[in-house]
Amino acid sequence: MGIKAIVLILLTVIYLYETALNVIKMRSVNNPIPENVADVYDPETYRKWKQYHGEKTRLALITSTVSWIISMLLMVFNGYAAFAGLFPKTLFMQMLAVMIPSALTDLLLIPFSWYDTMHIEEKYGFNRSSGKTFWADQLKAFLISLILMAAVGGLLIWIHQALGDWMIVVFAGVLMLIVLLIVFLFPIFSKIFNKFTPLEDGELKERLTGLLEKHGYHVRGIQVMDASRRTTKSNAYFTGFGKMKTIVLYDTLLNQMTPDEICAVFAHELGHGLHRDTLRNQCLTFLQMLIIGVLAWLTLRSAAIYPPFGFDGVNYGFAVILIMSVEFALIAPLFGLLVNWFSRKAEYRADEQAVKEGYGEALIEGLKKLSKENLADLSPNPLLVKLTYSHPTLSQRITAIKKLSKEQKTTD
Ligand SMILES: [Zn+2]
Repeated sequence: MGIKAIVLILLTVIYLYETALNVIKMRSVNNPIPENVADVYDPETYRKWKQYHGEKTRLALITSTVSWIISMLLMVFNGYAAFAGLFPKTLFMQMLAVMIPSALTDLLLIPFSWYDTMHIEEKYGFNRSSGKTFWADQLKAFLISLILMAAVGGLLIWIHQALGDWMIVVFAGVLMLIVLLIVFLFPIFSKIFNKFTPLEDGELKERLTGLLEKHGYHVRGIQVMDASRRTTKSNAYFTGFGKMKTIVLYDTLLNQMTPDEICAVFAHELGHGLHRDTLRNQCLTFLQMLIIGVLAWLTLRSAAIYPPFGFDGVNYGFAVILIMSVEFALIAPLFGLLVNWFSRKAEYRADEQAVKEGYGEALIEGLKKLSKENLADLSPNPLLVKLTYSHPTLSQRITAIKKLSKEQKTTD
C-alpha cells in the first residue's frame, strides 16, 4: 500500500475516533443521574442541559466532519503542493506556503465558531461577547497561531539544516523552552483578552491571604479577571512561576458564591499549588515535546513520504502538518489517557486540601453551583470520563469529599 493511502486511512481513523466519542457523548444524555447530585438541576434546567449538550455535540460532529473532508481533499488532490508551487523555492517560503491552506481552513471554520458562541452559548445564557469582541478574538487568535506556526516551522528548518539527525534532542529542548516561555508569558497573553484587577481589600481577601500564610505559600497577588465580559461560566486558576505566581479568580465566581464557598474553591487551588501539580503538568508537556521531537526527526529523514503528495523533496510545512494532524493525533488519545489519569488524581488531592481546611461542605455546595452554572454533565459515560475527563465527575468528587470529611471527624 502506498504512503498516500496510509495517510488517508490514518486521517479517517482519527476522524472516526472523534466521531465515536461524540456519539457516546450524545447518548449519555439519557443516563440516570446519581442520587448525590440529583438536586443540582431543577427539571427546567435539566431539560435545558440536555438540549445544550445535544446542540454542542451535534455542532462538534459537523465541524469535525467538515475539517476531515477538507484535509482529505487537500491530501488526495495534492492541494498543499499546489500552494507551494505559487511561491519562491526557498525552504522558508515553501514551508509558509503549505501553511496557507491550514490557515484558510481555520477561516472556513469561523462560521461554526460564530454559531457556537453567538447562537448556542447565547441561547443558553452563557454568552456575553458582543459581535465586536467575537471578531477581535478571532483575529487575535488567528494572528497568534500564524506567528507561532511560522516561528516553529522556521525553527525546524534552521535546526534540521544545521544539525541533521542530531536535531531531535535540540528540537525537543527548544520546544520545551517555548512551552516554558508561553507559561511565563501567559499572564501577559491573557491581558490581550481580559482585564485583571487585584482583589479588593476586605474580609474575603484577609481570609484568603490567611490561608496562604498558614502554609507559608507565597504568591504575587490575587487577581480578579473580568470573565463576565464573555461568559457567565466561572473558574479559578494559578498562573506564573515561583515568585511571579498569581491566583486568578473569575469575577463570575465572586458574584455567584458565598465567602465560604470561595474560600473552599481557593483552598482547592492552594492544594494544587502545595502538591506542585503545575510542575508535574510541565513535565508531562516536556514528555509530549520529546515525542513530537522524535516524530519530527523520523518524518524529516523519510524523504519518500513527500513525492506522493506532489512535492519534489522534503517540505518542512507539510512535515509539520503530518506530525501534528496525523502522527501526533494518533498518539494524543493514549497520551491523554495518562495525563487525564494523573489530573483526576490531582483533583481528588486538591479537594482533600479544602476538606483539611474545614471547607468540605462549602466545597460541595460550591462545586454544585459551578456545575449548575456551567451546565456540566452529571452522568457522563464512564469510558468517556477515563478517556477525556481531566476532572472526576461531580458525583465522584462529592462521594470522595464526604468520605474524607467523615474520616476527619472521627479522628478529631
Ligand atoms: Zn482543580
